[in-house]
Amino acid sequence: MENNSIETDICIIGGGVTGASIAASLGNTGKRITIIERNWEETDRIVGELLQPAGVHMLDKLGLSQALDNIDAQVVTGYSVYNQNKAIHIDYPLTKEMKPGLGFRNGKFVQNLRACLKAYPNIQCIEGNVTALHYSSANRIDGAVFLNSNGISVQVHAPLTIVCDGIFSKLRSELTTIPHKVTGFFAGLILDNCRLPHPDHGHVFITDTSPFVVYPVASGKLRMLIDMPGEVPPKMQDGLIEILKQRVWPFLPDSMKQSFDSALQNEKIKMMPNHKLHPAPAKIGGVVIIGDAFNMRHPLTGGGMTVAFTDVYRLSQYIKKHLLEGRLLSEEKYINDFYSDKSDETGVINILADALYNVLRQPVLSHACFSYLQQGGDCATGPISLLSGIERNKGVLMKHFSAVAKHACTKHNQTMNRTDIVKEAVRIIRPLYLHENPVWHHKLLLQLSLPFISQHK
Ligand SMILES: Cc1cc2nc3c(=O)[nH]c(=O)nc-3n(C[C@H](O)[C@H](O)[C@H](O)COP(=O)(O)OP(=O)(O)OC[C@H]3O[C@@H](n4cnc5c(N)ncnc54)[C@H](O)[C@@H]3O)c2cc1C
Repeated sequence: MENNSIETDICIIGGGVTGASIAASLGNTGKRITIIERNWEETDRIVGELLQPAGVHMLDKLGLSQALDNIDAQVVTGYSVYNQNKAIHIDYPLTKEMKPGLGFRNGKFVQNLRACLKAYPNIQCIEGNVTALHYSSANRIDGAVFLNSNGISVQVHAPLTIVCDGIFSKLRSELTTIPHKVTGFFAGLILDNCRLPHPDHGHVFITDTSPFVVYPVASGKLRMLIDMPGEVPPKMQDGLIEILKQRVWPFLPDSMKQSFDSALQNEKIKMMPNHKLHPAPAKIGGVVIIGDAFNMRHPLTGGGMTVAFTDVYRLSQYIKKHLLEGRLLSEEKYINDFYSDKSDETGVINILADALYNVLRQPVLSHACFSYLQQGGDCATGPISLLSGIERNKGVLMKHFSAVAKHACTKHNQTMNRTDIVKEAVRIIRPLYLHENPVWHHKLLLQLSLPFISQHK
């Protein structure tokens, strides 16, 4: 470091799940990589603790599956869905190639990912807080400015900057065109010495107030995430413990109640905002934005890390191909290619997450969704293959979404008339679909929704 400036080839901002994995996957290009992370210590977070099978698969493709070793990761082979004391158990459609999902503590996993990148001598890890992007002209970024641990401002110059400063990104407003939106909160608890009624399964509880999910994250430890809708989450002094008790206790299997009570008594409750952020890049050269800084969806389906690893894989492939063709990092067709293909690979995970959350918040649709899954066969394996990230076809998602709406019209129409059910279903799915693919999916949406709209007028 000279004169408080660093010359490098690739500057990566943020060393979380996305930043650490893109750095590690580019390590073998031989390029000088500088990664700036404000805290390299292990952290205790409630995010990113269930990796769906397709995420495990992507990590394998990235050559980073050793990050899952020695963290007491727990196998997850499917989901159990509870609704009014009834339960259904659906297994992932696993194959030799597609292995089970895994639950783990996020901090341990991130430290393992970071160990993968630290193995490369051409990767320089810096502890610092990035305060700004550095512009070489109005439409071109050539690095970033950060404050190091002594509070000194340092400038990094690079032909390519990769921004992955995550959920609370301070840099995204310059690099994206659609603002992010808070869609509610998750309260997170750890249940100790607790076994799930259906071991090795993620559990989703559908209730009339707010859904909650539970999955294993270490031996004898379960993560519970409870939906807290609204713009401001309740605080301890607002009676948070009582609210959580009312929303969860009546729906919990007896075997889990004691651990839940102890977790509440310990008052170790963490609250996180849930966001919706459609991926829409601004046209600025020299930079690419990826991970939660760029794209977020409701965490109910545990799809965030699968999206992140899918995008990391795609971006690293584009960069490597570009370099093999002897091109410069500053010629950026590869960045445009990365953005333009994104929805084909990750659009389904984005749409499903927010659509399912909204369905579970709507009593008629949520009961219809449960009884649709109860039918088994393709009605159960289709949706779970979408949730696991194995199936990425938007048409398949649309087929099951329409079928759930139809099912609500025929089986659950005592409390809501059919036209209102259809309107509600279209209100949920339409904006999600249009954001992912503005032109031809609009036509597809019409095609798929017309049959049940006309049938149930
Ligand atoms: C409540 C909740 C539960 C979730 N559960 C799941 C789940 O079970 N499964 C799943 O797949 N996904 C889940 N997600 C989503 C998942 O957590 C994210 O997709 C994933 O963490 C994204 O990783 P990231 O690296 O892009 O961002 P982050 O995890 O936010 O990491 C960003 C990194 O950048 C660093 N950083 C930020 N600003 C700066 C700065 N200015 N200078 C230097 N460094 C900086 C941070 O310290 C951090 O290390 C959940 C999300 C939420 C909100």
